[in-house]
Amino acid sequence: MEYTSTRNSNLRVSSAYAIRNGISSDGGLFVPTTLPKLSDEQIKSFADMSYRERAINILSLFLTDFTKDEIEFAVNNAYTTENFISEEIAPIQKISNNRYVLELFGGPTCAFKDMALQILPYLMKISSEKVDSDKEIVILTATSGDTGKAALEGFKNVDGTKIFVFYPDTGVSVMQKLQMATQDGNNVQVYGITGNFDDAQTSVKKVFTDNSVKTMLNENGKSFSSANSINWGRLLPQIVYYFSAYSDLVKSGEIEFGEKINVDVPTGNFGNILAAYYAFKMGLPIKKLLCASNKNNILTDFIKSGIYDKNRPFYTTKSPSMDILISSNLERLLFELYNHDDEKVKNLMESLNKDGKYEIEKEILDRLDEVFDAEYATEDEMAQAISDTYREDGYLIDTHTAVAIKCLTKSKLLGEKTVIASTASPFKFPKSVLSALGEDADLSDLEALDKLSEISKLEIPKPLQNLDTKQVRFNKVLEISAIKDKILEDLEIK
Ligand SMILES: *Cc1c(COP(=O)(O)O)cnc(C)c1O
Repeated sequence: MEYTSTRNSNLRVSSAYAIRNGISSDGGLFVPTTLPKLSDEQIKSFADMSYRERAINILSLFLTDFTKDEIEFAVNNAYTTENFISEEIAPIQKISNNRYVLELFGGPTCAFKDMALQILPYLMKISSEKVDSDKEIVILTATSGDTGKAALEGFKNVDGTKIFVFYPDTGVSVMQKLQMATQDGNNVQVYGITGNFDDAQTSVKKVFTDNSVKTMLNENGKSFSSANSINWGRLLPQIVYYFSAYSDLVKSGEIEFGEKINVDVPTGNFGNILAAYYAFKMGLPIKKLLCASNKNNILTDFIKSGIYDKNRPFYTTKSPSMDILISSNLERLLFELYNHDDEKVKNLMESLNKDGKYEIEKEILDRLDEVFDAEYATEDEMAQAISDTYREDGYLIDTHTAVAIKCLTKSKLLGEKTVIASTASPFKFPKSVLSALGEDADLSDLEALDKLSEISKLEIPKPLQNLDTKQVRFNKVLEISAIKDKILEDLEIK
């Protein structure tokens, strides 16, 4: 299997190259030249496999330059019961007739980013050995909250790597900030920045692609890579859990093999839902993908109208990991919809860069709408969904999952069999969840954690216990313009 760039479809690189480099030097994203198609027999065979076996099978289709041992090593070290709370890794809960929640938050940071970021460091190290073994890997990560912590947990103390995380100082929850500020590990750096997530992502991407910085790193035996969902090594592991969820539904008799289901995904950077789209293209019986947004509903507008326009207010919401106006992975979907027309994609991305907007043709929009539906939820609707789901279904959800559940309620797909991707533990956003339940939330986040546990009679997830007794190691906030110099300074590069 070979990979190409969304902005230069003549390029051919290996998966190791794509994962090690993160982004193509033309500014495009790495994508497979063709997607493998699975036979019914192959998909059927997953029903009797463990999550790890399912992962090994799917990863092997894409990482053809890896040995079987390398893939097994990565999978078997990432998806353990030491790292994840359940042996199933990504269990499914039926919450009512035809609604199934895919719990993706059982990892060390209680958010779905762990599904990919627990395995990425292994994939990155193996890739690095294949591509440029002598260079130290410097991971740059912009985060809206959850990626940062998950990347830090994945890469901490990994030999031959250093990781920098930048988060919007006023755009993440107290819990998220505390999780990052108390991070342990001898190769980690965490900074707040003064802008929003888009500012963080744009400025990190700028340093990442700055040729003079690249040269300086090179001369010092280092090179950048990315742990953001633009990295193919982040997307690939996410394809696995959609196959896994389907197989679990077949196995438990909830669906018959071949029966089509819908998938509902709370969306920000468009990585998670794109993985579901790839699963669909690979032959998984999916009818529709529901792209769920919060008040930052740029994707809802795009999927309904074909116009992507980021000239609009940016809202800070209670589902902060979805507060995004530039969904990077949409570029990969466009590349598919335009049948790998790199010129077209490049032009669209240029107009996004220049005018903050672009429009796709009616024909392309029709192609998009064959698979995608979109809805958004306001803050009040999100809170209502937390309360309704708790009272009517006896199931406690976080603010991001609540957006997805509300969007399903608003959608014409309601009533059809649907897998809802649940992306975070409710304990990660305890104050928002408490207030949605009508409880007094005039508490500190840590007090709110205890209260939520008391009310719900659920145990606080281990990684969120004792956060208050951990030492704060990182509390610096940088101007966006200072990011580049800070990185060079910390790497001791002059
Ligand atoms: C990152 C994140 C999302 C958005 O996922 P994308 O892949 O960026 O679309 C949704 N919910 C939570 C809790 C997240 O951490």
